Amino acid sequence: MTVIPVSLGDRSYDVRIAPGLLARAGDLIAPLAGKRPVAIVTDSNLGPHLATLRASLAQSGVAAEPIILPPGEASKSWSMLEQLTDTLLSLGVERDDHVIALGGGVIGDLVGFVTAILKRGCNFIQVPTTLLAQVDSSVGGKTAINARAGKNLVGAFHQPALVLIDPDVLATLPPRELRAGYAEVVKYGLIDDAGFFAWCEAQGAALLAGDASARATAIAHSVAAKARIVGADERETTGTRALLNLGHTFGHALEAETGFTDRLLHGEAVAAGMALAFAFSADQGLCADEDAARVAAHLSAVGLPDGLAAAGITASGEALVAHMRHDKKMAGGTLPFLLARGIGRTYLDKTVDLAAVADFLNRQPR
Ligand code: NAD
Ligand code: ZN
Repeated sequence: MTVIPVSLGDRSYDVRIAPGLLARAGDLIAPLAGKRPVAIVTDSNLGPHLATLRASLAQSGVAAEPIILPPGEASKSWSMLEQLTDTLLSLGVERDDHVIALGGGVIGDLVGFVTAILKRGCNFIQVPTTLLAQVDSSVGGKTAINARAGKNLVGAFHQPALVLIDPDVLATLPPRELRAGYAEVVKYGLIDDAGFFAWCEAQGAALLAGDASARATAIAHSVAAKARIVGADERETTGTRALLNLGHTFGHALEAETGFTDRLLHGEAVAAGMALAFAFSADQGLCADEDAARVAAHLSAVGLPDGLAAAGITASGEALVAHMRHDKKMAGGTLPFLLARGIGRTYLDKTVDLAAVADFLNRQPR
C-alpha cells in the first residue's frame, strides 16, 4: 500500500493507493464509522464496485446505505444538491459521520459540497473510480456544483477525511474516459517535473493499455505532486495551486465552445489546452519550438487532441477568447495564463494580452 499524506494542519488526511483496495476498504473505514449505516453516494454505472465496497464494509461489521444517482455532469446541479441533502438528512447523518463518495469527479465534487454544508459540515471519504478523479479531483478539497452562468461556480473548499484509491477499478472505465484522465497525469510532468514527462512519453501507452504497474506509478506520482501543491497553497492564494490550471484556460474555452458536452471531455479539452499553452508560449518566444512540438507529439501519440483541429474546433480566435472572458479566474480585466519556459517550467503570467491570444488562435490549423 502506498500512503501519501496531505499535510494541512488539522485538515490533514491520507491518500491510500493499492490494487484491490476496494475489497479491503471496510477495515480502513470501520474506525471512522459511527452507529448509523454509512451512506455511499455513487452513480448507476458503478454497480459492481458498489457491490465490492458493500461486501467489504459488511465483513468489517459496517452497514451501508447506498444512494445511486444518475451518471453525468448534470448531477452537479442545484436540484441534485437539494435532493441529496434531503436524502442524507432523512438518513439522520450527523456532523461526525462520514459519507462515502464512490465515483468519478462528478460524484466527488457533489458529495464534497453537500458534506461541506450539511449541518454546517460533516465528513466525507473519497473513493475515486475514474483516472481523472484518482489523480486529480479526489485530492485537494475543491468541491462544486454548476450554475446557470457556468461550471463549478458554486462550491466550497472542503477536504475529505480519507481518500482510498484502487487502480483496479479502472478496468471497467471506458477507454475514452481513461485517456481523458491521462491528460491530467501528463499535466504534472509539464508543470514542474520534466523527468516525469519523460516517464509519460516512455510509459503512457502501456498505462493506457492496462499495465498495472505503470498505472500504480502514475497515480502515486500524480497524487504526491497534487498533495505537495495543495499543501503549499490550499486555497489558491499564493499562485502555487494555480499551476494545476495548466491548459485549463485554453481548455475551458474549448469546452465552452462545445457546450460542455460529450463532444469534448474535460481531459480532452485540457490536453488540447496544454498543447495550445505550449504553442502560444513558443509563439511568444518564451519557450523552444521543440518543447511545444514534443508536448503535442506525446498527446497525439496516445490519442489525445493536440490542438484545435484535433479537438474539432472551428471557431475563430475572437469567439474562443470571448469564452475566456467568462472564466472565473478573470480579475480586473486580465486573465492569468499558465505559460511555459520549457517542459516542466511553467509559470503564471498575468500580463497576457487577450488580443494576442485571439491572433495566435486564428493562426492555428483548423
Ligand atoms: P464522471 O464522474 O462524470 O465520470 C465519467 C463517466 O465514467 C461517468 O459516466 C461515470 O459513471 C463513469 N465511471 C466512473 N467510474 C467508472 C468505472 N470505474 N467504471 C465504469 N464507469 C465509470 O467524470 P470525471 O472525469 O471523473 O470527473 C469530471 C468532473 O470532475 C467534472 O465535473 C469536473 O469539474 C470535476 N473536477 C473536479 C476537480 C476538483 O479539484 N474538484 C478537478 C478536476 C475535475
Ligand atoms: Zn482538470
